[in-house]
Amino acid sequence: MTVRKKMGTLYIVVPCYNEEEALEESAKSLMKKLEELKEKSLVSEKSRIVFVDDGSKDQTWSLIENLYQKHESIIGLRFAHNRGHQNAILAGMMYAKGFCDFTITIDADLQQDINAMELFIEEYYAGNEIVYGVRNSRDTDSFFKKFTATVFYKTMHFLGCNIYGNSADYRLMSAKALDALSEYGEVNLFLRGIIPDIGLKTSVVHFEVFPRMQGESKYSLTKMVTLAADGITSFSIKPIRMVFALGILALLVGFIMIIHVFYEHYFGTTVSGWSSILVSIWLLGGAVLLSLGIIGEYVGRNYMETKKRPRYYFWDVLSREEENE
Ligand code: UDP
Ligand code: MG
Repeated sequence: MTVRKKMGTLYIVVPCYNEEEALEESAKSLMKKLEELKEKSLVSEKSRIVFVDDGSKDQTWSLIENLYQKHESIIGLRFAHNRGHQNAILAGMMYAKGFCDFTITIDADLQQDINAMELFIEEYYAGNEIVYGVRNSRDTDSFFKKFTATVFYKTMHFLGCNIYGNSADYRLMSAKALDALSEYGEVNLFLRGIIPDIGLKTSVVHFEVFPRMQGESKYSLTKMVTLAADGITSFSIKPIRMVFALGILALLVGFIMIIHVFYEHYFGTTVSGWSSILVSIWLLGGAVLLSLGIIGEYVGRNYMETKKRPRYYFWDVLSREEENE
C-alpha cells in the first residue's frame, strides 16, 4: 500500500501554441486554482505552473516571460520550433519530474474543467499513480470532430491498443509514473497509448468540456491526422498481419478456382486460355500477398524493436540493499 505524504508538490503542465489570446485569462484561473489547492492543504507551497511554449509565432513567449517576472509560481519553457502538443506535454512533464511529486497536464485554453483537479488529487492521495481524465460528453465538439474521434477510438481498439475512449491529455501522473514514462525512447509520441502501457495503479476522473473561449483551435486537420497516424502505427503491426491473412485467403480462393476450372473444363464450356489465366491470377496474387505479409512481419518486429520500449518497470522493490544506498 502506497503511503502518500500529504501536501505533495504539484506541477501543472500547460502546452501553449499561439495562445496569446487565451494565455492571460488561463494563467489567472490556474494561479487562482493553485492558491485554492494550497489553502486546502492539498499541495505544497513549492507547487508550480509550467507553461511550455511549443514554438509559437505570436506573443505567447513574451506573455510567459511577463508572468514569470511577476509570479513566483510560474515556470516557462520554450521550444525552438513547433514540435506538437504531445512533445510539449512530454517536455513539461520530464522537466517537472525532478522537482515534483505529481503533475497534472491541461490545455492552455482551459476547455477542460479545472475544478476536476481536486478529484484528480484525491485519487492520487488514495494511492493511484496515474489518474486519467475522461470527458463526460462531446457536446461541445463539432460533428466532424465527434465523428473522426469515434472512428479513431474504434480503430485503435480493433488494432489492439488499450486506450480509454474519450480520454484527453488532461491527466495526473505521479513522479513514479513519470519515471516509468521516461524509459520510453520513441520519437513519434502518442501519450494516450503509451501511458496505459506503463501499468501501475490507475484511476479515472470524469470532467466537463467547455467551448474554447479565446482564440481558435490550434489542432489543424493535418495535425489531427498526424496524431491519429502516430497512434495507429506506433502501437500495432496488425495492418501487416491483415496483408498476410489476405494472402492466405487469396490462395484458398485460388485452390477452389482450380477445382471449379477443372469442372468447367470437362463438363462446361470454356474459352481457351480462361482456365490458366484465372488460376494463375489467384495463386500468384495469393503468393505475392503472403510473401509481403511475411516480409512485413519482420519489418514490423524490427520497427517494434527500434523503439526500445522498456521490457518491464518495477512498481516496488523490497530489498535491504536498496535501503542501504
Ligand atoms: N498545442 C500545442 N502545439 C500544437 C498544437 C496545439 O502545444 O502544435 C496546444 C494548444 O496550445 C492547447 C492544446 O495543445 O493548449 C490543445 O490544443 P487546442 O485547444 O487548439 O485543440 P482542441 O481543443 O481544438 O482539440
Ligand atoms: Mg482546446
